Amino acid sequence: MILDIIQDLDFLRKKSKTVIVIDDELRELVSNMVETMEAHNGVGISAPQVGLLKKIIIVKPENDIFVFINPSITSYNSNMISMEEGCLSIPNYSRVVSRFSNIKIEALDLSGSKIKMELSGLFARIFQHELDHLNGILISDKSNKKID
Ligand SMILES: [Zn+2]
Repeated sequence: MILDIIQDLDFLRKKSKTVIVIDDELRELVSNMVETMEAHNGVGISAPQVGLLKKIIIVKPENDIFVFINPSITSYNSNMISMEEGCLSIPNYSRVVSRFSNIKIEALDLSGSKIKMELSGLFARIFQHELDHLNGILISDKSNKKID
């Protein structure tokens, strides 16, 4: 089911809550989030963008789709890369955002198992964009000064 994308910036600036139970209801939400992202040709989506303040993000760096529950960055290098980004919740808007080029992350998968990964390139960028959503941070709130 394709869900409505929230564009209410006051709602999107709220912080999401840790997911405690990973059950069929949550898996259905994830499946709807994937469908919604694909319908809008997005490369990532977060639960608050479909109206749920839960720590769930989906990242599609290329053809594969990754689901991260309760995601966090555990370490990063100091190398920043600036690139133009858009956001499904802010149509017809883009801005240059600096992100860490390489990050190590942890999260849970849909079966509740812990995932640890090292991300770089577009994968790392989209992950950081979606993680920002869980903290109520939008690209329109980010500094766009070039660091690299
Ligand atoms: Zn976004």
